[in-house]
Amino acid sequence: MEKIQINSAGYYGKFGGAFVPEMLYPNVEELQRVYLDLMYEEKFQQKFKSLLRDYVGRPSPLYLAERLSNHYGTTIYLKREDLNHTGAHKINNTIGQILLAQRLGKKRIIAETGAGQHGVATATVCALTGLECIVYMGEVDIARQAPNVQRMRMLGAEVRPAKSGSRTLKDATNEAIRDWINNPADTHYIIGSVVGPHPYPDMVARFQSVISEEMLWQLEEHTGKKNPDAVIACVGGGSNAAGAYYHYLNEKDVRLIAVEAAGMGVHSGESAATSVLGTEGVIHGSRTLLMQTPDGQIIEPYSLSAGLDYPGIGPLHAHLIDSGRAEAIAVTDEEALKAAFFLTRTEGIIPALETAHAFAALERMKYAAGDVLVVCLSGRGDKDLAAYEKYLDKM
Ligand SMILES: *Cc1c(COP(=O)(O)O)cnc(C)c1O
Repeated sequence: MEKIQINSAGYYGKFGGAFVPEMLYPNVEELQRVYLDLMYEEKFQQKFKSLLRDYVGRPSPLYLAERLSNHYGTTIYLKREDLNHTGAHKINNTIGQILLAQRLGKKRIIAETGAGQHGVATATVCALTGLECIVYMGEVDIARQAPNVQRMRMLGAEVRPAKSGSRTLKDATNEAIRDWINNPADTHYIIGSVVGPHPYPDMVARFQSVISEEMLWQLEEHTGKKNPDAVIACVGGGSNAAGAYYHYLNEKDVRLIAVEAAGMGVHSGESAATSVLGTEGVIHGSRTLLMQTPDGQIIEPYSLSAGLDYPGIGPLHAHLIDSGRAEAIAVTDEEALKAAFFLTRTEGIIPALETAHAFAALERMKYAAGDVLVVCLSGRGDKDLAAYEKYLDKM
């Protein structure tokens, strides 16, 4: 198998690149030019690492889930990103990008958010650094993720509703891009996943790669083994998965399992299972797999989980799936809800609805009794209690 890495033009195989309106060339080119040098400057790394440790609470534990393991007849570890400050992996990336924005002299931060986790993580680092913060969010998501909207407002961010299309994540992303076009000089756009024009997918993957960097030594400490047999993560845009896979991308004995949202069923017309339904095209600045009609109109995605309700996936994941390096599993709303309750009542951990999809995949995967599996527990479920309660009433 060919080595999995990004090339200098921002492509993983045939996926990636930077397709942006001319007005944004200067911003995107500046980022492309400086991101690696800035990110790996010693002073930057020191600041980044000390904030991850003392502010975010890293390293996040790698927890042996004994009762879950017994149930499935194998060994399952959970990478506890839910224990991070703000309750998900998103903060790893926003800490990195806010430091970058400061170095570039930007005064104003914009972001898009689906479940509100990225919005909260962005509002948090803006409060931390005193930068202005505007978060675009679909009207539908504002309604279904009310606790996170309240947190963003408490943190001093302005939450601007996106009122077009399905009024969810992709529409919020369109609004954020529009804002950036109108304010290119003083504004940094903090993209929340491994999507968007180069260098965002690579930059976000590198900031999130702290997840698997820790897994390397944690797993060895726990098991004496260097590599797990499989790493399982849910994929919206793909940032928690990219972080959890990163240091195993070229370790062929590690299976990479990407779990997508099938909504009401992969072929129900109400789904977000991009790796099954997607075809090649350009969305939000990169060439990737996306759900579109034969003439290129975006098909409205659907998932009960706001963080997975996106019609594309990042170019890294498009490449991993296209090349056969990663295996995709699509999980319905119902399966995810069931898995959320099962995890909660087996281990006492309430997962985010997004994360619950990764756990539902345990029902579908094949593995051997001696296998060591790691599930990326990308976030906690406080924001989803209303959805869980509704399901409880039907159980
Ligand atoms: C945002 C989010 C996701 C989906 O985003 P990725 O970029 O695919 O990781 C998954 N889990 C949680 C908890 C989230 O907040």
